Amino acid sequence: MKVFKFGGASVKDAASVYNVLKVLHKHNAKDLLIVISAMGKTTNALEKLIQKYLSGSFPSEEIVDLKQFHNLIIQELFNSEKAAVYPKINQLFEELNAFLIGNKSNGYDFVYDQIIGFGELLSTTIVSEFLAEQGIKNTWLDARSYIKTDTVYRDANVDWEKTQKNILEGIQPNTINITQGFIGSDTNNFTTSLGREGSDYTAGIFAYCLNAESVTIWKDVPGVLNGDPRVFENAQLLHQISYEEAIELAFYGASVIHPKTLQPLQKKEIPLQVKSFYEPDNPGTIVCKGNGKPVQPAIPCFIVKRNLVLISLSTLDFSFMVEENIRDVFNLFHKYQMKVDLIQNSAISFSVCVDNKFNQLSALIQELKARFKVSYTTGVSLYTIRHFDPQSIDRIENGKQILLKQLTHNTVQMVTVEIKNF
Ligand code: ASP
Ligand code: MG
Repeated sequence: MKVFKFGGASVKDAASVYNVLKVLHKHNAKDLLIVISAMGKTTNALEKLIQKYLSGSFPSEEIVDLKQFHNLIIQELFNSEKAAVYPKINQLFEELNAFLIGNKSNGYDFVYDQIIGFGELLSTTIVSEFLAEQGIKNTWLDARSYIKTDTVYRDANVDWEKTQKNILEGIQPNTINITQGFIGSDTNNFTTSLGREGSDYTAGIFAYCLNAESVTIWKDVPGVLNGDPRVFENAQLLHQISYEEAIELAFYGASVIHPKTLQPLQKKEIPLQVKSFYEPDNPGTIVCKGNGKPVQPAIPCFIVKRNLVLISLSTLDFSFMVEENIRDVFNLFHKYQMKVDLIQNSAISFSVCVDNKFNQLSALIQELKARFKVSYTTGVSLYTIRHFDPQSIDRIENGKQILLKQLTHNTVQMVTVEIKNF
């Protein structure tokens, strides 16, 4: 079996959905599992809806917009007003409405996960119905019946044993299956999500459990480039990346592949292709066993993470920042769900660059201040260059103030703020 994943941009409008059909015709695959994200920017729209709902107002306009966006796509895809897709979509909106009315919880992460998956439920329903109408028989699967997780809402961890069992028992070979990226469910069958951009990971989970032959991620870019072209000029296509290198790149924040996607694939040596949805005949990028070559062509790779916080700590009594203190600091990072991106320490000070993903910075700082001298800068960027050379470092340093720099054999990292000319 092969696994295909279509991201939000690949199903952002009716023309793109037609393109999915074209890609499937070209591949003529009969033994396929297709993972689909929410259409276009639907997940962002749902995040706004959630924000409004949790701040106490009913998100009526947001629901109308969401319906309208999907309905326009449906109208372009289906000729008949009696198409089976309509009652199915209405049913999903009814479920959403029922949740919004009936929900008593104001736990942000929990509520978020009960709502956010509607984007994927809508997109997969539309694509599945459309393909069926176009003669591609397929089975729509509810990913939540297969992917079981813990209850860490918005960043759930997969229960591999249960998931593997569900997938092996529930998925028919020699069929085309369509399912949602990004969502799973906990033991009480509440919806959980795997973190933003988590649909790639879903593809990896299914591929691992199915012992798939390959995974293909269809994107609106030619493959994996050596830097995000919106940030780095003259970005070049990488033809081949080893699993280890791809894991490193994703870990440092390369946004092309979700960081957790690769581990399960590497374990079973399942190749991952990243291909252009517009030019399906082009080879794109393949992530596979590297045999000593991390990237081909061998060029520096650039990554940036923005809007991080650089925190510097020193002890109040000039004692050393050693094991015990550092352990306590890390416990606090864990408690406040800070994602640590970079660490540097000296005898009496400790600097760390964190992602304040869960908006808990003030609480963290307050608690740190009880024990340490604390200074911090928000809005910093963390640049990483893999396989750097002097020119590539110059290129990044130019026009920026470097707050911290760390160099290892393969990697240089720099925490920067833009220099502003007043
Ligand atoms: N729709 C989700 C998001 O936008 C998951 C994904 O696209 O991978 O984050
Ligand atoms: Mg997406």
